[in-house]
Amino acid sequence: MIPVSYENLCPSCGSSLLENELQSGICDKTGRGLCSHEIDDVFSEFSEFFRMSVGELRALQKFWGRRILEGESFTAVAPTGIGKTTFGIAMALFLAKKKKRSYLIFPTTVLIKQTVERLSEFSKRSGIRVSFNRNDGDVVVAYYFSGMKKKGS
Ligand SMILES: [Zn+2]
Repeated sequence: MIPVSYENLCPSCGSSLLENELQSGICDKTGRGLCSHEIDDVFSEFSEFFRMSVGELRALQKFWGRRILEGESFTAVAPTGIGKTTFGIAMALFLAKKKKRSYLIFPTTVLIKQTVERLSEFSKRSGIRVSFNRNDGDVVVAYYFSGMKKKGS
């Protein structure tokens, strides 16, 4: 049989697509599946990031993650303790690493302080250099609550 090569048609690496790759469904050069979409790659990256900084994603958090990475706008409604805040903090950090901005808004000063602490923990675990209310980190986190003193006082 004559070997077939489809030039520049591999959806994974962009170069030639060979018969054996079509049969296995995996690109020989990248080791990735031929049907994997870009969203799968970003989602895998987020999953790994979450594992490093927090732990395993729960099913609901996976669902939210995919929706956010697909650019969907939605409201996450779930009982206390399901992991909405944890998810939000980790996702904001992940997106910040990719030079995207997020806003986290909380109703109390206590929640803001806890979020700053958790952002700090997550960033240490994932190896991201975060600066708080300064501009010298890989990721900059600006936060404010009503009881804060003026800078320098
Ligand atoms: Zn390929």
